[in-house]
Amino acid sequence: MKKARLFVWFIAFGIGILSAQKNTSKLHLFETKFDINTVETVNGVIHTVETILTSDKDYCCIHLQLENNEDKVNIHVGPDWYLEEKRFELKRGDVLQVTGSRIIHERKELIIAMQIEKNGSILPLRDERGCPLWQECRKDSTPN
Ligand SMILES: [Zn+2]
Repeated sequence: MKKARLFVWFIAFGIGILSAQKNTSKLHLFETKFDINTVETVNGVIHTVETILTSDKDYCCIHLQLENNEDKVNIHVGPDWYLEEKRFELKRGDVLQVTGSRIIHERKELIIAMQIEKNGSILPLRDERGCPLWQECRKDSTPN
């Protein structure tokens, strides 16, 4: 009995820590450049899938290079665990439709994805303010 109780406590505590971490996840610095006025939709085929650490090493972020005609577009998606949670797999050769805000970061163009569509299923990632759907957003719509 004692063992079982300890186990339950451990589970509850573990989940508590996990969800706390999710809510405090920091973003890439460039995420503040998200602008609804630069939102566009691009179609393409995944050329590379990269998992990179955010600058504060807070989470692993999925980045894609999407081939669209002659162009290669870099797409910033979101945390690897979020995609796992949504069972949304992205791999080389997948045909996607990505909607997101096109920004320039370190002289490179990059799209911050709002949603990704693959084979008719849609993965929503951010709202129209660019707030990630996997965490509480601190970007306030009311200026202060
Ligand atoms: Zn990223």
